[in-house]
Amino acid sequence: MRPMLLAVLRPLLLAPLLIAPLLTSQARAATETVGSLDGIPVIDRLDVADQPSGRTSRFWFRAGDTATAQRWLVPVIVVKGARPGPRLLVTAGAHGDELNGIDVIHRLVASLDPAGLAGTVIAVPGLNPPGLLQSTREFTATGSHNSPNLNREMPGSLDGSAVAHHAALLWQNLMRPNADLAVDLHTQSRGTAYVMYVFASNARTRRMAELMLPDAIKLDRGDKGTIENTLTDDGVPAITLELGHPERFDAAMISRGVAGLQNLMREQKMLAGTVIEPTATVTGNALASVRAPRGGWARLVVPLGSRVEQGQPVASISDAFGRTTDTLVAPQAGIISSSVTDPRVERGSTLVRILYSSPDPACAYGCP
Ligand SMILES: [Zn+2]
Repeated sequence: MRPMLLAVLRPLLLAPLLIAPLLTSQARAATETVGSLDGIPVIDRLDVADQPSGRTSRFWFRAGDTATAQRWLVPVIVVKGARPGPRLLVTAGAHGDELNGIDVIHRLVASLDPAGLAGTVIAVPGLNPPGLLQSTREFTATGSHNSPNLNREMPGSLDGSAVAHHAALLWQNLMRPNADLAVDLHTQSRGTAYVMYVFASNARTRRMAELMLPDAIKLDRGDKGTIENTLTDDGVPAITLELGHPERFDAAMISRGVAGLQNLMREQKMLAGTVIEPTATVTGNALASVRAPRGGWARLVVPLGSRVEQGQPVASISDAFGRTTDTLVAPQAGIISSSVTDPRVERGSTLVRILYSSPDPACAYGCP
């Protein structure tokens, strides 16, 4: 080719190379709809920017694949306000036996009028379909795997195990691209219960935690791979909200969860109204556990949520004949933030956890 002609053609030859990445990034940023199921769009990717304002939209998000060569479908509700504002991600059911958060989302969405909303709520009531089906904390599709925990797998890996792949699809195509702040809803595990309890890892998320109006806040550095900590570390302030008992819809706890989220939304100017400040929240940065010295029948001496003094009896263990073998006392003054609900306890199991504040400066946001 002659130099002159090449000079004329060069911009045209380069053009596809320049356009291709632009098209790719544009395509990646848009909602990708792949079909529909019972009239609900099935999507591989969500971008709330291209969703209609002033409307509630529902989707099935196509997440990880199953051992029967099908896909897990995760329900997603987008309430996009008529006015611009923050994108609040609310997730539930990462642990499949923790159900209150699912009803919190259903009720929160029902309470919202998109016409009066500023910003967008992206609600995911059921991150872990196999766990929900089997009522297990784990992402256990077949019952034979080694207890993978979806809430320790973020941001996941497309080349990883089933749970890592599921996590990566949720993280990359649903959660991370659509969140300015986030609340991940949980409860305590089977056989135990929490008060209304929030984990927060820095000053910004501590304020979010306070707005939930909980019984207790645990300032905590968190665990690797949680939804909360992975989002917060990536610049999206997030909290974990724990709502009582697993395996049930607890109406009182659910109402408090909805009220807390609405309070956070008022502070964010997503909803109109006066922000309520907490008056009865206990904040701590350390936990003292009371453990069973032997197996037996556990009885709580003081109820969940009680304030206790150091040395105060909190639980007892009795033998098979009902004779008390042990009376266990609080090692520390504080609030009982978690307790057993199943009276059958094994040697070494935790009966109650007491939340307190350590004065050690290194413990300001959780002891190292
Ligand atoms: Zn959980």
